Amino acid sequence: MELLEARIRRDGKVRGDDVLKVDSFLNHQMDVRLFAEMGKEFKRIYGGCGVTKILTIEASGIGIACVTAQFFDVPVIFAKKSQTKNIAGEVYTSKVESFTHGKVYDIIVSKEFLRREDRVLLIDDFLANGSALMGLIKLVEDAGATVVGAGIAIEKAFQPGGDLIRSRGIRVESLARIKSMSEERGVEFC
Ligand code: 5GP
Repeated sequence: MELLEARIRRDGKVRGDDVLKVDSFLNHQMDVRLFAEMGKEFKRIYGGCGVTKILTIEASGIGIACVTAQFFDVPVIFAKKSQTKNIAGEVYTSKVESFTHGKVYDIIVSKEFLRREDRVLLIDDFLANGSALMGLIKLVEDAGATVVGAGIAIEKAFQPGGDLIRSRGIRVESLARIKSMSEERGVEFC
């Protein structure tokens, strides 16, 4: 998506070899007009797939998921990062390793909101090693629901997550795919 790539070129900041900071329009301050264009694009891609729910992960996927959901006219569920253990039984759970902090944490979704008949579109801001997306996929599979596919804003295609998830037969559509990046050269797209 040209608009998103141009914005990354202009305002994205590469940190080290593998972290892209997009705090000025996506992860901290949020450009909702840009989000709307992204939501329209996800609707163009997945509009014919019978999506009944959008599922994302706390916190940075929520904004994009909400704006996207307006175009699908379906509810958004966000998987919560959980500390409490006493809710087992009422929730689906899985484990996610944080890309930015390296810690493993549990994510949960109430069984009330994810039903066997649901057709779920997963939305997230970044795809790196694929742990966040794999965690979301497990929640949907545990519910007996269907993963329609994933809509990702920025895929770092030089990291293994995209291949990992596509090799499981799951459709992954990313609006910007980064081939390589460095602090000196900036970002190169696929
Ligand atoms: P994964 O689970 O695929 O390894 O990483 C995806 C998650 O890590 C995303 O939800 C996102 O919050 C975070 N993430 C991964 N790479 C980056 C990055 O380069 N920049 C930012 N801002 N977040 C990232």
